[in-house]
Amino acid sequence: MRVLVVMAMHAEAEPVVRELGLAPVSTPPWAAHVPMKLYQGRVGSMELDLVVNGVDKQSGLDLIGTQAATASAMLGCEAFKPDLVVSAGTCGGFAKRGGEIGKVYLAEDRVWYHDRRVPIPGFDAMARGGYMVANLDNVAETLGLARGVVTTGDSLDLSAEDSERIEAVGAHAKEMEAAAVAWVAGLFGAGFTALKSVTDIVDGPHPPEEEFFENLKHATEQLAKELVRLVHAIAEDAGLA
Ligand code: SAH
Repeated sequence: MRVLVVMAMHAEAEPVVRELGLAPVSTPPWAAHVPMKLYQGRVGSMELDLVVNGVDKQSGLDLIGTQAATASAMLGCEAFKPDLVVSAGTCGGFAKRGGEIGKVYLAEDRVWYHDRRVPIPGFDAMARGGYMVANLDNVAETLGLARGVVTTGDSLDLSAEDSERIEAVGAHAKEMEAAAVAWVAGLFGAGFTALKSVTDIVDGPHPPEEEFFENLKHATEQLAKELVRLVHAIAEDAGLA
């Protein structure tokens, strides 16, 4: 069994690389021009690969959002042919649904887009995504992981239109990559899940851009801790630990 983890920011990935003892590997020659960074390792006899979006050439900042996530997932899936793809990162949580800073959600049910609006029959449903997540109920129960519906869009702020769609699916985790990664995993016939740690409270009093940096370190430490537990439990469940 082979698991691919897809992450956006270096700060999010660093504790994961350290705690799983992953080693950097070069991108395949056909992808030499992309900014994505690849890492590899093992959990028992399970192969574990990680792709991080890398930095934007013009700004020097970490690439975030669905555009880079799509390219990362495509690269990782083509290079490693994973059985399961995990979109791991940070998210905004919702106090009204039990969200707290540093709480880590394993995706449940489906992953949605909240900012793609196409009011044409058929295209409307396609734009919403709604990609199924893999059934990891047993693993989640063993680990006592919180479960939540994940929703994706390309903005950090919250518009009234986005909010309507987020409420329609009762989302617990608002972030910027998962649905894009889920779509690519589906193209490759791989299972998909997401693990998201709360950096900011969407329905709280503070703007996300302030809370995000204040809580990034704590949230990423929690994320790394739960991701390590998750991949070990998946390896054990598959008899590979
Ligand atoms: N300002 C930061 C970038 C943060 S963008 C910087 O310059 O480095 C937010 C990143 O964290 C995205 O990858 C997204 O998936 C996640 N995220 C955390 N909280 C979010 C929220 N409330 N809404 C959308 N994405 C969020």
